[in-house]
Amino acid sequence: MKVLKFGGTSVGSAQRMKEVAKLISGDGQNIIVLSAMSGTTNSLVEISDYLYKKNPDGANEIINRLEKKYMDVIKELYTKEEYNEKGLEVVKSHFDYIRSFTKDLFTVFEEKVVLAQGELISTALVNNYMNEQGVKCVLLPALDFMRTDKNSEPDPVYIKDKLAVQLAKYPDAELFITQGFICRNAYGEVDNLQRGGSDYTASLVGAAVNASEIQIWTDIDGMHNNDPRFVENTSPVRQLHFEEAAELAYFGAKILHPTCIVPAKFNNIPVRLLNTMDPTAPGTLICNELVHGKIKAVAAKDGITSIKIKSGRMLLAHGFMRKVFEIFENYQTPVDMVTTSEVGISLTIDNKKNLKEILDSLKKFGTVTVDEEMCIICVVGDLDWENLGFEDDALHALKEIPIRMISYGGSNYNISFLIKASDKKKALQSLSNYLFNK
Ligand code: ADP
Ligand code: ASP
Ligand code: MG
Repeated sequence: MKVLKFGGTSVGSAQRMKEVAKLISGDGQNIIVLSAMSGTTNSLVEISDYLYKKNPDGANEIINRLEKKYMDVIKELYTKEEYNEKGLEVVKSHFDYIRSFTKDLFTVFEEKVVLAQGELISTALVNNYMNEQGVKCVLLPALDFMRTDKNSEPDPVYIKDKLAVQLAKYPDAELFITQGFICRNAYGEVDNLQRGGSDYTASLVGAAVNASEIQIWTDIDGMHNNDPRFVENTSPVRQLHFEEAAELAYFGAKILHPTCIVPAKFNNIPVRLLNTMDPTAPGTLICNELVHGKIKAVAAKDGITSIKIKSGRMLLAHGFMRKVFEIFENYQTPVDMVTTSEVGISLTIDNKKNLKEILDSLKKFGTVTVDEEMCIICVVGDLDWENLGFEDDALHALKEIPIRMISYGGSNYNISFLIKASDKKKALQSLSNYLFNK
């Protein structure tokens, strides 16, 4: 059994849905994970913002516009009256439901329910289309098996058990379709796996059924060696080790959700990144094999704040590091990069929610300096410390860019540089020019 995930652009129009239908038919009893149609989740976020601000008119305007878009999709998607009717019913019931939230109190709980509608609609429409095509396709409700625990982490045992129960009900099914992104939390409320989280659903489902492969179908031919949104002349990397892909995803390669590699890696399930716009292109295979001695790709993560704590007494002061990190732990703020010297420590965070409180607490240890609007540039490949030359190459490529921090040695797969966000594009372009297009 394989798990195939199709992102928003891949199901972004009636035409695209038909292309997806061709790709998923006749290849065995696989599980298909779908995102919402592209733009839908953003619109649902906008609707929620209006409702938080008690502006139902603003919300209704977007709801009407979005509903109209879906009506047009229905017209184009189905040929037979019966399936057309079913499609219309799906759209009507979900939009009536969304409208019901414009009349009452709107909190974070309602927002989660509104955000879930995009995936619920896309999967129902594609499932209906597959049935129209004569495929025995079964819609599996993700809200019945996809669950997070009290720490908001997915609960793999629950997911595995509940999904097995669902699958066992339909031994004759030719295909299964389910929603990406959405889940229930430990209290049974509707929740989600964060924006872009459908990739994570796919790998959690893949791990739960011990899939032979997890395929992430998107709008580009695999993982490129640099961010194509900012850099010209990027090219696909044909193979990556799990660790390399995890570093790239974590440090900003949008093609993969940051945590999506973890379940696949632990269960040793290969992940293939493929292009719905060009289905025969080879894409990228992510597995346990390492192509040695090469820098493979670079990525950038924005929205970084760096904090430097300088203390005259750090040398020999055991416990200093623990006390500093305890503060970040107390405020549930993950630390990304860390560098140390005899007199101080620099580190970075990407969540500024408790920045003021964190800084107040840190001040008792020494002088604290903060730089906001920073960016981490991450260079990824087989960067084992005994391989010669890659540090020199990366630094050479960045010789025109002021570098605030460098981190290396935390893994064999990455060397990271902290620079100003305003230098990001230039840094990515010069890395491409020097490392990949020389
Ligand atoms: P989906 O909606 O299918 O999940 P995403 O928009 O989340 O698709 O991810 C695909 C996009 O990721 C590409 O269109 C591309 O612009 C962007 N991207 C960023 N970095 C990379 C990279 N290194 N390789 C490929 N795509 C990347
Ligand atoms: N639809 C959700 C989003 O836009 C999840 C996803 O597409 O992965 O973030
Ligand atoms: Mg995505």
